[in-house]
Amino acid sequence: MQNMVILGATGSIGASTLNVVKCNHEQYRVFALVANTNVAKMLEICVEHRPVVAHMVDAQAAIELKQLLPAELAIEVTTGEDELLSLVSCSEVDTVMAAIVGAAGLPSTLAAVKAGKRVLLANKESLVMSGQLFIEAMQSSGATVLPVDSEHNAIFQCLSERNQLEIGRCDLVGAGVSHILLTGSGGPFLNSELSTLSSMTPAQACKHPNWSMGQKISVDSASMMNKGLEYIEARWLFNASAEQLKVVIHPQSVIHSMVQYRDGSVIAQLGNPDMRTPIAHCMSFPQRIQSGVEPLDFFKVGQLSFLEPDFNRFPCLALAIEACKQGQEATTVLNAANEISVQAFLDGQIRFTDIAIINEQSFKHVTAQSLTTIDDIMALDSQARQYALEAVRKLK
Ligand code: NDP
Repeated sequence: MQNMVILGATGSIGASTLNVVKCNHEQYRVFALVANTNVAKMLEICVEHRPVVAHMVDAQAAIELKQLLPAELAIEVTTGEDELLSLVSCSEVDTVMAAIVGAAGLPSTLAAVKAGKRVLLANKESLVMSGQLFIEAMQSSGATVLPVDSEHNAIFQCLSERNQLEIGRCDLVGAGVSHILLTGSGGPFLNSELSTLSSMTPAQACKHPNWSMGQKISVDSASMMNKGLEYIEARWLFNASAEQLKVVIHPQSVIHSMVQYRDGSVIAQLGNPDMRTPIAHCMSFPQRIQSGVEPLDFFKVGQLSFLEPDFNRFPCLALAIEACKQGQEATTVLNAANEISVQAFLDGQIRFTDIAIINEQSFKHVTAQSLTTIDDIMALDSQARQYALEAVRKLK
């Protein structure tokens, strides 16, 4: 029986994880559920999954949850940053699903890594911000980090067993890998007229053709910033160089990514676009468990197609690739600016095409002196947020 903490339990990945737990309740126990403000959803999942602890980041939400939870469930309600870091690190916990959205997920994800837990990593932003420190923490604690992001999970499945055991320090050349082919659907605006992009609404941007996801990652998929963040994530997880990483547009989202080998072989991982598959894979690796996902029906899929990314249409993807080349300072700034610009777009303050403009301005103007600790990273993150907020204010 594995005791799990689910960070971001009220979100889209949280829901899929709880679904997989339900299919395999004899092997997994929900030890703790963590969310920010969503009391109604937290109450519902607490009643269903009966964790030992329910943690709300927002203190007022914790008070409300405590009042609403039936006393006979005996669920301890906690709040506070230190309490969260102790919760993910405590000895009863085996596995942590890291699925808080954005930079807010970094401290708790890193605490789980430092405590040597089995970390199922959905929160790509933590690697984008702290790649080097994250990998070093993983190596010194002996934590097992397994990629939940469907593309990285696919790549992981296509790599040799030796590479799978070397996350963060894979010897790709030694294993005969020539390229990692990171696939992406191109999102809802792949075929829209370029001139219409500036008038796209948040509802249109969040209407992904294949995946059902939280709002932030849905907008990131429409701008392909998500693929850019994944490119940076792949760089760290698989110790990949820019020459080894290629982005391929694959509109059907059936192939979740591929690995091309020196001898001409290409190994791909396929499946229906449902996050329960990579989540179940990470939860049970190296075994396989039921995920509740329908088997892939090739006769319904019919055809698979592939395109080169168009950087005019997707300037955020070009920015992220450039940031990855420049290093951690640039990726931290870009990630922070993007969180601000995406939220401003969702709030109706700026146009869809302004996201790339704000990201580029922040990327060019915000710099750090040194970036050797998490405090340095958080300081740079907040500096970039301030800059991006000012840029939003000027565009409004
Ligand atoms: P959602 O927006 O659906 O859920 C976000 C979760 O994070 C909620 O539980 C939310 O709590 C919690 N949260 C938000 N802010 C804070 C905070 N400051 N402190 C603590 N918790 C907070 O996001 P997704 O599930 O879509 O995405 C989660 C992560 O997984 C992201 O990093 C995303 O990039 C990654 N991912 C998601 C995929 C998907 O298919 N959805 C696929 C691959 C990766 P509350 O509800 O209380 O606000």
